[in-house]
Amino acid sequence: MPELPEVEVIRRGIAPHLEGRHIADVVIRNPNLRWPVSPNMAEILRGLKISSVSRRAKYLLLNCGKGSLILHFGMSGSLRLLTPAGAVAPQKHDHIDLVLDNGVIFRLRDPRRFGAMLWSYDEVLHHELLAQLGPEPLDAEFDGLMLYKKTRGRSASIKQVLMNSRIVAGVGNIYASEALFHSHINPLSPAGQISLDRYRKLAEAIKKTLDLAIEAGGSSLRDFVNSDGKPGYFQQQYWVYGRAGKPCRECGTHISQVRQGQRSSFYCPLCQK
Ligand SMILES: [Zn+2]
Repeated sequence: MPELPEVEVIRRGIAPHLEGRHIADVVIRNPNLRWPVSPNMAEILRGLKISSVSRRAKYLLLNCGKGSLILHFGMSGSLRLLTPAGAVAPQKHDHIDLVLDNGVIFRLRDPRRFGAMLWSYDEVLHHELLAQLGPEPLDAEFDGLMLYKKTRGRSASIKQVLMNSRIVAGVGNIYASEALFHSHINPLSPAGQISLDRYRKLAEAIKKTLDLAIEAGGSSLRDFVNSDGKPGYFQQQYWVYGRAGKPCRECGTHISQVRQGQRSSFYCPLCQK
């Protein structure tokens, strides 16, 4: 599942190819994503200029002046850009093409179809999918004090609080597990009992973990143009995520795995208290 860093790397990769371009045509081969793509989508988008490409949590936003296109990659979505010279016939899961005024095709592939493409005429950040989201973890307003204040009186575990997008947007399972390791906090700890000092370390660890992942993705970024369009999962060395039973890289203790909500958490029972 593409996480926040993957979506940010996609944004950085495609923005220079999209910004300032007009949408010449839209081809919808299969509108049945998580929500049906509007039958009017081609009519809405044709002729619009893409003024900027931004991101909110794991949503990619193509801002087009009188409205914005909201994209989400769901479980298996990916994008690629095809120049006229490099254009290939669409494959089975290539559901939507946006054709730009220079002939470049912006192609959305989504085998499991949990992704989304929605149009918003109104201020996109007020769209029902985005309006309730908490702060962006990489923004300055997200810090240890904010986490501390939002968790007073909460008995839920810190891991589940970090996965709650109303508290902080888009941290995701991998990066929550990794940041808790780096700040030495057990994912099962009740959020309301964690001190301000520890929340400051945790907020810094979240930012650093996401920044490093974006950097890794950026440096290993295959060109989006005429690439094979496979999802941009980064080859990263995790400290705890996915390492159940393996030795902790700090102390050698076996990494534990526990179910929290519907997700697995990984942690070192010695390093994380
Ligand atoms: Zn350890």
